[in-house]
Amino acid sequence: MKYYSTNRQAPPATLEEAVIRGLAGDRGLYMPERIPALEAGVIRSMKDMSFHGIAGVVARALFGEDVEEEVLTATVEDTLAFDTPVVHVHGTVYSLELFHGPTLAFKDVGARFMARLLGHFIRRRGIDRTVNVLVATSGDTGSAVAAGFLGVEGIRVFVLYPGGGRVSPIQECQFTTLGRNITALEIDGTFDDCQALVKDAFADRDLNARMALTSANSINVARFLPQTFYYFNAYAQIDRAGKAGELIVSVPCGNLGNLAAGLIAARMGLPVERFVAANNRNDVFYTYLKTGVYEPHPSRTTIASAMDVGNPSNFARILDLFGGDRRAMARTVATRRYDDGEMARTMMNIFRRYGYLLDPHGACACRALHDFRLTSHQTGLFLETAHPAKFRETAERITGTGVDIPPRLQAFMNGWKQSIPLGRDYGGFREFLISS
Ligand SMILES: *Cc1c(COP(=O)(O)O)cnc(C)c1O
Repeated sequence: MKYYSTNRQAPPATLEEAVIRGLAGDRGLYMPERIPALEAGVIRSMKDMSFHGIAGVVARALFGEDVEEEVLTATVEDTLAFDTPVVHVHGTVYSLELFHGPTLAFKDVGARFMARLLGHFIRRRGIDRTVNVLVATSGDTGSAVAAGFLGVEGIRVFVLYPGGGRVSPIQECQFTTLGRNITALEIDGTFDDCQALVKDAFADRDLNARMALTSANSINVARFLPQTFYYFNAYAQIDRAGKAGELIVSVPCGNLGNLAAGLIAARMGLPVERFVAANNRNDVFYTYLKTGVYEPHPSRTTIASAMDVGNPSNFARILDLFGGDRRAMARTVATRRYDDGEMARTMMNIFRRYGYLLDPHGACACRALHDFRLTSHQTGLFLETAHPAKFRETAERITGTGVDIPPRLQAFMNGWKQSIPLGRDYGGFREFLISS
């Protein structure tokens, strides 16, 4: 299957080319030329299948033409080496816990899948120079990508993160202590500055001629599309409980990769009545859906920091899915936005009432689902995208209860921190890449 650019100025690419390049030559995002539909009978039968089985069906539909069967099976196996249960919170509302991977956030799924697939494509093509993965992070992406790519041959990863305490100490440990093929760069600037450096590097023709560069942000199709797997799995579990009639799915949004993947799953046939896009004060998408005006702004700092994105890259994909028709988009996607106080109160209420500890991102989606006001026929599902221990100080302050750090997270904190400080000017970053 071919992949086209959302800007439609670059030629269509094969999956292999799209994964190796990341962003299309015209700076658009790659989209599958055809979204494969799964038969209703197949989707209904998922309630009797394991997560591995379900992900295998979805993966073969998306990638089966382009990736050898054994490679795809092994890639899926490896991606899902961790279970992803659905937790019943109360009444008709379910939470999908997506934080059982190595770095305790949902990005592990896409990052692991992409690392294996990119490694495979590099070998298949016989690329003999190192491929450099550049990733800008506000916290969670860097850790998931670093853990996913650790030790993958032929790939070096540069994680750019904002310095000055802008990422939590736990998050910082997760990408600064790994060593080997992972290099952490502490940028004297904000997340937007980090993202700008990465974008400048991709747009730099001379640099791209000298070294092979790619992106592991959710602009890469190999990170973006596997996120469809867990939507199908969640549906299967809710269907097993006999509750999948009219499903409303609430997603905490940052770069909009997770929501875009949910929309792709729906186009593949997943019966979702409506999505709810939950924003924090970084409300560009909210404002667009309400008014039709898309106005990027510098990112605003909130307690749900992984959603602090002022110009979400996957907006281009969502717009493309609806052919630029905002009204059609709004019929499928409802939206809500919340400030820190509202997210904190939701964490507090859910903890008091159900003894369930949310992280701030999950809290945003949970609140959006509540305010959506489900009818008695509808079932609500919200995505809980990170383990609350990743935001321990915030969670403890708000709920007044101690939060245990899981052993997997503790292990990172005992490591030796190594990072290289860099300024926010492109010239210095470029020099560094060339000399490293
Ligand atoms: C990245 C992230 C989000 C936002 O996901 P997008 O795909 O960027 O919209 C939400 N919650 C957590 C915990 C994240 O790490």
